Amino acid sequence: MTKKEANNSMDKIVSLCKRRGFVFPSSEIYDGFTAVYDFGPYGVELANNIKKEWWKAMTQLRDDVVGLDSAIFMSPKIWKASGHVKGFSDPLTECRKCHSRLRLDTMLEEVGVFADEKMSEEEINNIFNENKDKIKCPNCGASDFTPAKQFNLLVQSNLGNFTGDWSKEPTYLRGETCQGIYVNFKNVLDSSRVKIPFGVAQIGKAFRNEITARQFIFRTREFEQMEMQYFIKPGDDAQYYEEWRQARWSFYLSLGIKETNLKWHKHENLVFYAKEAYDIEYNFPFGFKELEGVHARGDYDLSVHSQASGQDLNYLDPVSNQKFIPHVIETSAGVGRTFLAVLTEFYREEELDGDLRIVLALPPKLAPIKIAVFPLLKNKPELVAKAREIFNQLKLDYRCEFDDNGNIGKRYRRQDEIGTPFCLTIDFDTLEKDEVTVRERDGMQQVKIKVEEIKNYFQTKF
Ligand code: ATP
Repeated sequence: MTKKEANNSMDKIVSLCKRRGFVFPSSEIYDGFTAVYDFGPYGVELANNIKKEWWKAMTQLRDDVVGLDSAIFMSPKIWKASGHVKGFSDPLTECRKCHSRLRLDTMLEEVGVFADEKMSEEEINNIFNENKDKIKCPNCGASDFTPAKQFNLLVQSNLGNFTGDWSKEPTYLRGETCQGIYVNFKNVLDSSRVKIPFGVAQIGKAFRNEITARQFIFRTREFEQMEMQYFIKPGDDAQYYEEWRQARWSFYLSLGIKETNLKWHKHENLVFYAKEAYDIEYNFPFGFKELEGVHARGDYDLSVHSQASGQDLNYLDPVSNQKFIPHVIETSAGVGRTFLAVLTEFYREEELDGDLRIVLALPPKLAPIKIAVFPLLKNKPELVAKAREIFNQLKLDYRCEFDDNGNIGKRYRRQDEIGTPFCLTIDFDTLEKDEVTVRERDGMQQVKIKVEEIKNYFQTKF
């Protein structure tokens, strides 16, 4: 795909998101708020369905992973101990002409020069100097930049600070959800029946002061993570790392994502906590980019928290009586990035009777609305009443939508764009012969079924 085509397809997705209520720019009536987005009526359903699938795969379908929902605010001591206060940063440079602040590693990568946010200031500035002529400011085109400095991404708040004195130690909004898991390791161990190896899964908001936030919901300053930390015996790292890499790859296939749109990326420069790190990348309209990280973190996290808190976070093996600090395999995915990957994967444009038909060919389990129910005509009370009756039954089991507005063709098109797999129309045959018409999104076939068969029919479809 050329850059122009990529922009084009990204624009189409962004436009669909706004037009149909999937994603809105934050604070839009106040000119927006950079790098923050809101999920609209259909967006929240899709995001919830993604989270539901992840939660099911990670907890319900396994007997070795339990859930957790830790608070966003935590003791600032956690972020000091974890290394984030010191080392959670990206290289920032400033354009001397227009004063845009830019993230240097991604700018280098965009012109084909290998760079990584984990490089030291000196390392990345050396590469920068060697390639200065290749890099232009994306906002004004100038090629005059300040040397890069590591910029800390933690977002600070004044929670609990009633003096207004900002020199006091700040409270942070969590930069990743997994710290809440590490600091609850002992609580989970002591209160549930888990034994090593076991995992703790959590979905929640994280916040990062991202320097350049472009590409829609791919990189935002407030986002949601789906993270799982798997605690293992030291020495078992390679086995479980491989198992989790496969499990996470299969998860995306289970969402209907084509394997050719996924790729592994191995990190050569490791972030301060990691022993081994691979990303699963997805083929977004702007190229293959990180969707999820799978990291072997060794004993780093529990060791630093054990030292800094003075609490013994050793695990006592009930069989061997051995004591050890468990090692951790982490899987860390973003809800927003999975959402964007799903939209990219299932967005289709087709020609239909000289018109453009836009379809979100979502798998039924991800579709925001499962069944749309239409009375053929709005001004026939008998049809509307019957349609309401059927809708009221179906809504007990499925997320449904009732729509009596406009002609049927237009109603179908609207549901196609939001990815509704089935539309059910109540017409005069319903009143006379107890039959409804079910129209299927992808092939647009229509079948007549008896009212009493509706329940069974959808049970086989979902
Ligand atoms: P990147 O290199 O793209 O900045 P990262 O390596 O810093 O990402 P991790 O810290 O490994 O990301 O976070 C795990 C996951 O959380 C990522 O794979 C991504 O899906 C999601 N994520 C991280 N940062 C953001 C962000 N700013 N906006 C949206 N999702 C994010």
